[in-house]
Amino acid sequence: MPGAPVQSLSDIEKIRYSRHLRLPQIGEAGQQRLKNARVLLIGLGGLGSPAALYLVSAGVGTLGIAETDTVARHNLQRQILFREDDIGISKLTAGMAALHALNPHVSLVSHPDGLTSDNALSLFSSYDVILDGTDNFPTRYLANDAAFFARRPLVHGSIFQFEGQTTLFDTPKGGPCYRCLFPEMPNPASVPTCEQAGVFGALVGVIGSLMAMETIKLITNAGESLRGRLLMHDLLAGRVRTVRIQRNPDCPLCGQTPHITNIGAANYVYDSCNTAISENGLPNMENIPLEITCEEAQEWLARPVPPLLLDVREIDEVAICKIGQARHIPMDAVPEHLKTLPTDTPIIVHCHHGGRSMRVTQFLRTKGFAKVTNLKGGIDRWATACDPSMARY
Ligand SMILES: [Zn+2]
Repeated sequence: MPGAPVQSLSDIEKIRYSRHLRLPQIGEAGQQRLKNARVLLIGLGGLGSPAALYLVSAGVGTLGIAETDTVARHNLQRQILFREDDIGISKLTAGMAALHALNPHVSLVSHPDGLTSDNALSLFSSYDVILDGTDNFPTRYLANDAAFFARRPLVHGSIFQFEGQTTLFDTPKGGPCYRCLFPEMPNPASVPTCEQAGVFGALVGVIGSLMAMETIKLITNAGESLRGRLLMHDLLAGRVRTVRIQRNPDCPLCGQTPHITNIGAANYVYDSCNTAISENGLPNMENIPLEITCEEAQEWLARPVPPLLLDVREIDEVAICKIGQARHIPMDAVPEHLKTLPTDTPIIVHCHHGGRSMRVTQFLRTKGFAKVTNLKGGIDRWATACDPSMARY
């Protein structure tokens, strides 16, 4: 990192990192920058495991890990840092032992209190770059806000079932933050967790490795950063794409008139008033399920006043197949079309398999659209269960 003294590499380290040293984009200078870098990882779970393994084997000088959880049997399907014998012991204890065995040249620092609104700013300020490997919204929003106030780049990864997203939120260099995309924290009860929705094990390997990659690129100045770009993986479909993301002038944190001015604990407790029943007695979001099946969607669409069916796929996907009455707005264009969406008519959002549309459903709910639901399994499920004549991809 700029300004920090550069530590030279020992002969043993030069052998260990020789394949890095041969890469012109890394070289000895880049490897020394890695050795000099202080990286903080929030969460040692599905994303944190591969991220930590690659950062430590790459020779990051100091890796801090904030984690409070213990290893459970159901973690072992994807949290590749842990073994059967680790069940029941703290992830920090088990993980630090495994990481130290992998590379004793790395200084590991444990933060067993995890990330809290009390410690976030001082913790972030003592590291050069932060990785968010969390799986819950309060910590994700806290990490985002603390990174903004501490002026630190935040490597972001998130996953849902077979789909994952990776980016670099680098607000000190003018990039957007997480709240530019999702301004307010959704009701945690309205968003399915990995426990409820399931998660594909190898997906977190892909996204966690990309987070390590992005961190190493940032430290070594190699290649083209994901700053301002969201890298999206749909592993079930075998598709990868990148969308541009920009700072949102209305962002409550980094926008022109922000209302979040500190990281007080109250900002990371979901305000249940957001789901109160509206004055006109219309059903609130809790009366509209978060997801409906294609059979239910068909029934809703056959009503005298049908809901709006919103297709958030890309145009090339729509060219392959579409559900007749659907309105098409690609996912990344939804924020700029909010004023064109009805607030008094239910909205069914769909994509290919249900991952992107779930994110749009969550986003619209945070923007006050109370009657929004996700089409479970997306158009692919529709094609197999409701319309076998439809083309699939
Ligand atoms: Zn922002």
